[in-house]
Amino acid sequence: MKNLKDKSLFREAGLIGGKWVAASSGKTVDVVDPATQCAIGTVPDMAGPETRAAIEAAASAYAGWKKKTNAERAGLLEAWHGLMLAHLDDLALILTTEQGKPLDEARGEIRYGASFVKWFAEEARRINGHTIPSPTPDRRIIVLKEPVGVCGIITPWNFPNAMITRKVAPALAAGCTVVIKPSEFTPYSALALGVLAERAGIPAGVINIVTGMPAEIGNEIMANETVRKISFTGSTRVGSLLMRGAADTVKRLSLELGGNAPLIVFDDADLDLAVEGALVSKFRNGGQTCVCANRILVQAGVYETFAAKLSARVNAMKVGPGTEPGVAIGPMINMAAVEKINRHVEDALAKGASIITTRPALPDGLQYVAPLVLTGATKDMQLAGEETFGPVAPLFRFETEEEGIALANGTPYGLASYFYTENLKRAWRVGEALEFGMVGLNTGSVSMEVAPFGGVKQSGLGREGAQIGIEEYLEMKSFHMGGL
Ligand code: NAD
Repeated sequence: MKNLKDKSLFREAGLIGGKWVAASSGKTVDVVDPATQCAIGTVPDMAGPETRAAIEAAASAYAGWKKKTNAERAGLLEAWHGLMLAHLDDLALILTTEQGKPLDEARGEIRYGASFVKWFAEEARRINGHTIPSPTPDRRIIVLKEPVGVCGIITPWNFPNAMITRKVAPALAAGCTVVIKPSEFTPYSALALGVLAERAGIPAGVINIVTGMPAEIGNEIMANETVRKISFTGSTRVGSLLMRGAADTVKRLSLELGGNAPLIVFDDADLDLAVEGALVSKFRNGGQTCVCANRILVQAGVYETFAAKLSARVNAMKVGPGTEPGVAIGPMINMAAVEKINRHVEDALAKGASIITTRPALPDGLQYVAPLVLTGATKDMQLAGEETFGPVAPLFRFETEEEGIALANGTPYGLASYFYTENLKRAWRVGEALEFGMVGLNTGSVSMEVAPFGGVKQSGLGREGAQIGIEEYLEMKSFHMGGL
C-alpha cells in the first residue's frame, strides 16, 4: 500500500499462534478499494483447518494469559493503545483504502477504537469479586470472577478497527484469548492491529486472526467446543444464524446487530441543533452505520423549515474518494450496497416521495451515491422497514407526540434513537417511551467507550463498552468454604 509510513503494518497473511501464515489450500481472496474498484492486495482464504489451528493456538495461550496478573494484562493493553495512537495516520490510511470513509472520519475511528483499549486496560484492574453473608455460621461464601475462555470475534466492514477493539480489549482484559474473523471486505485493519499487538508484547496465540470467506470459518467457530463465547457485530440475519449455531455447544453470545434508528424532531426543537444532529447521525460513514438515523420523523409545524435547512447543508456535501480533502461522502462498500440504496430510493419515489436536494456531480467510480433528502416518506416504503445503509435521509411527517413515538417504535429493531425537543417534560416522556437500547436527546451521537452500547429486540444481546462491557467476558464462580 503506497504512502504508508510504516509499510510493515500492511500484512497479506493470517495470524495463528504468533505466525503469519497463508491458507493451507494456497487460496486467496482479493481486497478491493471501493473508491477505484481495483484490488489493493489479497489475503488468505482460510477455512475450517486454519480456524481449528487458530482455536488451538488460542487455547494453548489461554493458560498463561489467564495467569498473568491483571496489572500485567493492563500494561500490555496500555502498550497496544499507545502504538495505535503512534500509528494513527497509517491505520487511518489502511482503513480508508479498504473501506472508503473520509480520512478524517477514519482517524476518528482509530481514536474511538483505541479508547476501548485504554478503557478496558483500566477496567482490568477492577475485576472485583464479592463476598456473600453465609446463612450458616460454619460457612463463608465468595464470588470469583474468571475469564470465559477462548472467544470467537466476528466483525463487520463498516468500522473495521473499532468493532474489533470494542470486543478484543475487554476479552483480553478479562483474561480470555481470541480468534478474530474480520469482514472479508476489510481485513487489513484487523491485521495491522495484530502487528501492533505483537509489537506491544501481547504473547503469541492470545490474538489470532483468520481471514477469508465466512461460511467455513463461521461453522468451525460455532461448532468447536473449545470456543466458549462468540461476540458478533453485523446483520441480524447472520446474528440469528450464529445464535442457532452456538446452541449445540451452549456458547455465550454477544450480538450487536442491525438497527433502524428514528431521529425525531419535535415542533419545540432547536432546529439548527437538530440539523447538526441529523448530519452527524445520518451521513457519517456515508450512512453506513448501525446507529445512523434511518428515519427522520419531523412534526408538522416545523417540517418545511427543517427540510429546507437540512437540504441546504446536504447540497453542500462533497462526494469523492475518502483520501481527497473536503470529501464528506466516500464510496459505498460494494455494488450490492449501491443497488440496495437505489432500490430504496426508487421504491420511495414510486410511492410518492420527492427528492428535494440537488444531485452533486459524482466522481468516476461505480460505487458513489449522491446524498439525498426525501420528503413525503411513509411507513409502507422499503426504507421505513429496512436499514438503507446509505446517505439517504427520508423525512416522515407526524402530527402528535403519541404518533411520533408510535412511528419511532414501529420496528422490530431497537438499537439507537434520537430526538430533539427543548421541553423538559417531553424529554422525560419521550426518552422513557422509546424502545431502544440507546437514546440521544439533542445529540446525534451515542457511541463512546464510557457508556453501554447495545440494542434491544432484534438489535441484539449484551452491551459493549462501559464498566459492564467486561462482564460479557467473565464467568462467576461461587466458592463455598464449609466446616469452619
Ligand atoms: P454481515 O452480517 O454481513 O457480516 C458481519 C460479519 O459476519 C462479517 O465478518 C462476515 O464475514 C461474517 N459472516 C457472514 N456470514 C457468516 C457466517 N455464515 N458465519 C460466520 N460469520 C459470517 O454484516 P456487514 O454487512 O458486514 O455489516 C453491516 C451490518 O452490521 C448492518 O446490519 C449493521 O447495522 C450491523 N452493525 C451493527 C453494529 C452494532 O453495534 N449493533 C455495528 C456495526 C454494524
